[in-house]
Amino acid sequence: MITISGKSVFGGVSIGKILFYQRNDKVIKREHVDDVDAEWKRFQDAKDTAVDQLKGLYEKALEDVGEANAMIFEIHQMMLEDLDYLESIENIIRTQEVNAEYAVATTADNFAAMFSAMDDAYMQGRAADVKDVSERVLNILSGADTGIKEMNEPCIIAADDLAPSETVQLDKSKVLGFATMYGSSNSHTAILARTMNIPAVIGLGEDLKAEYNGKDAIIDGFTGTLYIEPDEETMKAMQEKRAKDLEQRALLEQLKGKENVTKSGQKINVYANIGNVSDLGAVLKNDAGGIGLFRSEFLYLENSDFPTEEQQFAVYKKVAESMAGKKVIIRTLDIGADKQVDYFGLDKEENPALGYRAIRICLTRPEIFKTQLRALYRAAVFGNISIMFPMIISVNEVKKIKEIIAEVKEELKSEGIPYKEDVELGIMIETPASVMVSRELAKEVDFFSVGTNDLTQYTLAIDRQNSKLDEFYDPHHPAVLRMIQMAAESAHAEGAWIGICGELGADLELTEEFLKMGLDELSVSPSMVLPLRNRIRQCE
Ligand code: PEP
Ligand code: MG
Repeated sequence: MITISGKSVFGGVSIGKILFYQRNDKVIKREHVDDVDAEWKRFQDAKDTAVDQLKGLYEKALEDVGEANAMIFEIHQMMLEDLDYLESIENIIRTQEVNAEYAVATTADNFAAMFSAMDDAYMQGRAADVKDVSERVLNILSGADTGIKEMNEPCIIAADDLAPSETVQLDKSKVLGFATMYGSSNSHTAILARTMNIPAVIGLGEDLKAEYNGKDAIIDGFTGTLYIEPDEETMKAMQEKRAKDLEQRALLEQLKGKENVTKSGQKINVYANIGNVSDLGAVLKNDAGGIGLFRSEFLYLENSDFPTEEQQFAVYKKVAESMAGKKVIIRTLDIGADKQVDYFGLDKEENPALGYRAIRICLTRPEIFKTQLRALYRAAVFGNISIMFPMIISVNEVKKIKEIIAEVKEELKSEGIPYKEDVELGIMIETPASVMVSRELAKEVDFFSVGTNDLTQYTLAIDRQNSKLDEFYDPHHPAVLRMIQMAAESAHAEGAWIGICGELGADLELTEEFLKMGLDELSVSPSMVLPLRNRIRQCE
């Protein structure tokens, strides 16, 4: 048995086989081949296998996410049959007498560069697709495991680290747990683990090796331990621990339908954070009073091109309707920093967390922003939707947002499309600047929601993605708590309400303090709703 220690990001015990996520980032070598006919045939066979895989993925996606979203796999099939693409590969193999891998990689690079250079945003987006399909063929040619996209049975996903774009591709019903070498507890993969209610351990370091792929393992999410090929004694102890945990969760079940109220009668709203329509089940199951943060950027991360107004409208409408009149706070897209999307064509930046992200993209590319706002104002007719804007630093930004909203409403009106006139508007308090001008900001909006993940990062000047800095990343730092207090005082002085939607909202050690500050709402991962309710009910 091998025991590896890391950091827990979500409790619970999971038992299963390891699936080590292999990123195909090996260097493609240019090799001479004598038999070019055989090499061309080798490519064609790999391409046929890729087309078959894509057909399977199309069928699966059709069932899981509907035709509009499944379409991408059809487009990928067509790309693999594209005559120019095939001609380029054949030419390189035959004229240069080289291996198929080299011909595919070179063609992919050339085509991607050509698409990226086009003016049309749709065509620019095809650069990522041509790379994706070519990668699929390269994986088949080299016999590499295609990683976690095609899981046959539930397993523990191990990886060096997982980017949000990789995590969203997972078949979540088959993930028993996460175990990663790196990553920080505020990374989006950690947040996803909490949303999905699955045990996760990060920061296991170099001891977690790719060669453990396929081996039996146990994650003890309470202690942050990963056991590879556990001995009988450990297996028995962990099975018992798992049973106890399930029992504890059953006890929490009894809190369903109860109020979030302290012993002295102070009430607070407890809402849930989601990234996806598929998280709705967890929200309802855990009896959240509403949705305090819908990270709408996951819609963009899951797509291979800008989601259309209709696509977004359908998603927001579904969420609003499913919540049946309960509050649903949708955050406008927060792309940038660790959440990168190829088709946005963003430049590489020296300091992405301090860079071109979130509202800064929306205000400078209003066509993207307007599409989202149109979908939101239309969907608001179907439920209790509020809209919230991320990464705000000034009153001026809020004024600009309101001007764009006025234009959107005017356009919808003149087109005769139904929309809701008065939608509650809020901003995220994620920057020290927004705290310092919170009194002025509170005059402009209906509510604040404190994004403590970013607020901690920017207040302490500590990159939330950098696991080396975890020992310095202290969300209980008095500077962070005073920032929250100050924002709360400003909000209440101007008649606005305030909540927390960052991970700190679920920190049960701080619940009492948040109640004392008079916060109106805490929005947490669905799995934390009942433990938080339990804690609130214990407070005086
Ligand atoms: C935050 O910063 O606390 C937040 C809720 O937003 P995200 O984690 O998506 O950046
Ligand atoms: Mg944030």
